[in-house]
Amino acid sequence: MNIAIDGPAGAGKSTIARLAAKELDFIYVDTGAMYRAIALYLLDKKTDIDNEDELKNALDQIHINIVYESGVQHVFLDLQDVSTEIRSEKVGNMASKSSALKPVREKLLDLQRDIAKKNNVIMDGRDIGTNILPDAELKIYLTASVDVRAKRRFDELKLHGEEPDLDTIRKGIEQRDYQDMNRDIAPLKQAEDAVLIDSSDMSISEVVDRIIELKNQVK
Ligand code: C5P
Repeated sequence: MNIAIDGPAGAGKSTIARLAAKELDFIYVDTGAMYRAIALYLLDKKTDIDNEDELKNALDQIHINIVYESGVQHVFLDLQDVSTEIRSEKVGNMASKSSALKPVREKLLDLQRDIAKKNNVIMDGRDIGTNILPDAELKIYLTASVDVRAKRRFDELKLHGEEPDLDTIRKGIEQRDYQDMNRDIAPLKQAEDAVLIDSSDMSISEVVDRIIELKNQVK
């Protein structure tokens, strides 16, 4: 069985998908991490992503491996575990830019479909319900207001000892939403058959419970 969860940055997709996957004994597949791993490589190699040949050569060099350890996804670039490194804002912003490019999306398409074919998965991303797994048994579009998403990110960074600026975070989220929703290829949008969940006024466990409830209604 495949469950697709799409939605904008900061809606809580990964936290919620991870918890729901644990409860259902499914594999949680974080596709954003795959785009981030590519972005990290492109940043490290200072690739000019607007140069087609340079981008193609770089993508040919990238070998992404996804490994699950006790249900936790680890992303490897060749033999290096980059799961922590890919979490920075810089990598996230580059991922948002580079994921709009066709060769980048093509590189990850089969990898994502292949994992879903072999396992019961909860896969989160931007185009899972619309493009990667159009036949997923359950599709969720998880969102929250920009203010709520910015505040959540602000609190998270504070917790990690950083001194974030709420307004800068808010602008970053708005920019990321715009880029993800307005690109030509596989833009972020709610699939016609997806269930909309707005988590602005919901706790994490309420959202997880709702997803389990929806899963149990699947025939
Ligand atoms: O979800 P996360 O913030 O880790 O994703 C980083 C970026 O990767 C997103 O802003 C989005 O542009 C891109 N992405 C995508 N398609 C996916 C998952 C992520 O385009 N399925």
